[in-house]
Amino acid sequence: MDRSSLCQSLGRLTTGEVLFDDLSCEIYSTAACLYRIRPLGIVAPRAAEEVSWIVAFLAAEGIPITARGAGTGVAGQSVNSGIILDFARFIKRVRDFDPETATVEVEPGVILAQLNQELLRLRRFFPPDPSSGDYCTIGGMIANNAGGPHSIRFGQTRDWVESLEVVLADGTRTELRPVRPEEVSPQSRLEASIYREIPALLRHNRELIERYRPRVKNSSGYLLWDLVDPEGRLNLAPLVVGSEGTLAIVTKARLRTQALPEQRATALLFFDELDQAGAAVAVIRPLKPWAIEIMDRRFIRLVREHDSALRASLPEKAQAMLLVEFAGEGEMSPAEKLRELNRVAVIEQRLAFAFREAVDPLEQEKLWAVRKAASPILYRRMGPRRLTRFIEDIVIPPERLAEGIAAIQKILSDHGTEAPILGHAGDGNLHINPELDLLDPNDRARMQDLADAIYDLAIRLGGSITGEHGDGILRAPYVKRQFGPLLEVFKEVKRIFDPAGVLNPGKILRDEERLPLSNLRLGSHPQPADYPPVRRLQEPSLQSILLDCHGCGLCRTYCPVFLASGREADLPRSKLGALRGLAQGDLSGQEHLPAGALDALLAACISCERCLCQCPTGVDTSRVMMAAKQARLFSQPLSLRDRLLGNLDQIGRGASLAPALCNRLLQSRRGRVASERILAVRRDAALPPFTRDRLQDETPAPGQISGLAPLGRVLYYAGCLERRHDPGDELGLALQVLQRVCREVVIPDLPCCGLPQLMAGDQAHALDHARTLVQAIRPWLGGGTAVVSSCPGCALMLRHHYPILLGEEGEALAQATGDVFDYVESALATRRPEGRAASGRVRVLAWHRPCHQAALSGEGKMEKVLQALPGLTWAGTFNQCCGLAGSFGLKSEHRAVSAAIGRSLAQALWETDAEAVVSACPGCRLQIAGLGFQVLSPLRLLAEQWSALPE
Ligand SMILES: Cc1cc2nc3c(=O)[nH]c(=O)nc-3n(C[C@H](O)[C@H](O)[C@H](O)COP(=O)(O)OP(=O)(O)OC[C@H]3O[C@@H](n4cnc5c(N)ncnc54)[C@H](O)[C@@H]3O)c2cc1C
Ligand code: SF4
Ligand code: SF4
Repeated sequence: MDRSSLCQSLGRLTTGEVLFDDLSCEIYSTAACLYRIRPLGIVAPRAAEEVSWIVAFLAAEGIPITARGAGTGVAGQSVNSGIILDFARFIKRVRDFDPETATVEVEPGVILAQLNQELLRLRRFFPPDPSSGDYCTIGGMIANNAGGPHSIRFGQTRDWVESLEVVLADGTRTELRPVRPEEVSPQSRLEASIYREIPALLRHNRELIERYRPRVKNSSGYLLWDLVDPEGRLNLAPLVVGSEGTLAIVTKARLRTQALPEQRATALLFFDELDQAGAAVAVIRPLKPWAIEIMDRRFIRLVREHDSALRASLPEKAQAMLLVEFAGEGEMSPAEKLRELNRVAVIEQRLAFAFREAVDPLEQEKLWAVRKAASPILYRRMGPRRLTRFIEDIVIPPERLAEGIAAIQKILSDHGTEAPILGHAGDGNLHINPELDLLDPNDRARMQDLADAIYDLAIRLGGSITGEHGDGILRAPYVKRQFGPLLEVFKEVKRIFDPAGVLNPGKILRDEERLPLSNLRLGSHPQPADYPPVRRLQEPSLQSILLDCHGCGLCRTYCPVFLASGREADLPRSKLGALRGLAQGDLSGQEHLPAGALDALLAACISCERCLCQCPTGVDTSRVMMAAKQARLFSQPLSLRDRLLGNLDQIGRGASLAPALCNRLLQSRRGRVASERILAVRRDAALPPFTRDRLQDETPAPGQISGLAPLGRVLYYAGCLERRHDPGDELGLALQVLQRVCREVVIPDLPCCGLPQLMAGDQAHALDHARTLVQAIRPWLGGGTAVVSSCPGCALMLRHHYPILLGEEGEALAQATGDVFDYVESALATRRPEGRAASGRVRVLAWHRPCHQAALSGEGKMEKVLQALPGLTWAGTFNQCCGLAGSFGLKSEHRAVSAAIGRSLAQALWETDAEAVVSACPGCRLQIAGLGFQVLSPLRLLAEQWSALPE
């Protein structure tokens, strides 16, 4: 059957989505793994019966079928040729909770965090806790037998599955739960043979299966153990768990849940020697901890080097560290268990030399922060060698942990690389990601040698090649090394369940002897086409960004465009993957990526810059997308609309001469309709009214020192919106506040920073603006002058983009530039306002953290200052995009996405009792006001508060 007929046939079998275009296939060709395999197409079904029809149809055609959740599988199990069935898109409801059995029924596309959020209302949770739990799906967890730090107490996903509804390889939909095989009424020949042949296979190989029973945490091979209960009932659900979609497709699951503990307590223990940490694990386990996490000296050194906030809490001489958590169960309280831990591990046995404990939840979070600091610190390190996941999940028996870690460190150094070692010490599950450059053939060979050596070590010590991540493609060759003759039984299981071999072929069972090097994402590629975006993307700095994305999928939690659409194509990793495909020649320009598809891809990044601060590798997706937009302009010049929206500075200059007239025109029905028809600017968009140029009203007087330690000279950069579109007079407020903390404030008449042009891809004009601004500002720089802006977009442009655009020329300005709120905070650090509330009554406010402010200054110090002000109650911090994103939300074609992004923020705000929303970005305030909320600028709040202070 040709591709087009296949696509049409699948379209008739689903009400969901069928994607057969080259761009979608490229996007689904990768996941959080090292491999890249292009599928024939993707289907996102909406219901279990559709899954059954699709599987029956594809199986009859002999076309491989691979289920996929969030694509966070690291071993290559979620990529394949054939058809991908995407469950994360539509089949994702939490269906019902049965209070009698405390079980919950869920669809496979449900995200773990979403499930736990729903269970929280019942004071319960689903215990398996992969670190990807904020974005991975239950279907993926079941298929991988996922676990996490708390596996030592709660085991893995397999231990929490009550029953499964699955679709078998011929399309039969059936429920898997404990049954007597002879009592099953099979619906198909396949189901009949499964219930006939599997019990026989288990019986004939009982001894062999028992001999290879894993004594440690394990997700490798087929999980053949404990499938028959003492009453002789066979349960095939635990066999499907961990089978990576190779035996059946899960369409529903009934899961057990656990009551939330009333209390928890956490401790950090520091050791002079790694051996002592290993010995301590054995001492701690009898206390029944909920988690024991280990971190080695290299990890500690890196955290000390890169995180000044955490440095003080990590003793310099520590060679290893354990994080231990207890919860309130059994006879001892968590606090008593901490005392016992201290007594045994520190006082009596003198294993640890230092001990820090926390019972208060916030203090406990601080201790866990040390462990969670791993990803951003480790992945943001520069250089061609990147942390590479291929031996990232081995298990060493806990009692041999110290011996195992020492041997691993030797193997790494013998092979000329290094890797911090951390993991779940309680069950000996270690996460090791050596630094390698997979573009270098020597390092590719080194990867195989390391895999051979480390997997052999784990097996020799009685451990496992994978504790929770699964075999996939990566570890399939090592399944034989771990299970020897049991491999033949595994093959039989696969044959019985999937005689035609259509379910996710090539996973768990493969013929290679060593780690597969074919289909590597960073391997060899065809010659790239000569096409402007391709040429541009091949610039080394952009190439490096494209390679930095390791596909982890965390962007599923923060990219506003993805969160609004739920489409895989809108994920940062997908956008980067598509551009990488172009740059590497896997997608050949016009042939695979017609103009419409390229434009849609480029429009899906609104340059919110959340990737900068929230992606663990700090991948600058927006920068690559802007560069690609710029290259696109070679073949398609900027539209009149985009040129106008990029030049609001010039338009505003003219309009501010006669603002009333311009506003009448702009706000009139006719004006709105015309702008929508001619320029495709939404008629219902919240357009900012023009005002007189505020700069004409503000002539800074000499600073009035107000008892705060005065800072030096500050140059306030007034953005276009606050100068000519701000009835709230942000500029006047900024001046008022700054004059209280500075010796001198200057507000020169400076041009637009160029961000609107840059976001549209018009780099040439952005560069012009940047050069003009740098020249105009230069005379003011030096002598410690700080440049601040209350518009986070402008400040980010000066600080982050200028050095990229202008090199050294932009560096000095970037160094001097910051967020006005952070700047004021440093003055307030010496004396906080302590007055009463300006209005004399307690107000409930919500804090909105704009995207560009998050990218500029992380959590933002100012919000902490504001939140400490008297007379105010804070209903929470809302770290979400508002949907405006420069001029993105004004454009007709983005109406739906912009509204969806805004709706999500509005819903979160509606759930609070906040009377007003405080947001630092003037554009966000406009948009949030359009969503129906009262808005306030933080500067107004601060100015109000100060006016209430006794002078
Ligand atoms: C940063 C990071 C941290 C991680 N931390 C952990 C951790 O602490 N513990 C851990 O266990 N894992 C961890 N993982 C691995 C992975 O996230 C988990 O195993 C997760 O459960 C996979 O879920 P997913 O939805 O992404 O599945 P996917 O990657 O989409 O799929 C995984 C497998 O499940 C199969 N599958 C998906 N849906 C179905 C279905 N409906 N029916 C049948 N088969 C299906 C796929 O075919 C594939 O074989 C981590 C991964 C990353 C990137
Ligand atoms: S963009 Fe960042 S968060 Fe997203 S997959 Fe890549 S590395 Fe992970
Ligand atoms: S910069 Fe923002 S919109 Fe663009 S990919 Fe990253 S998170 Fe998404």
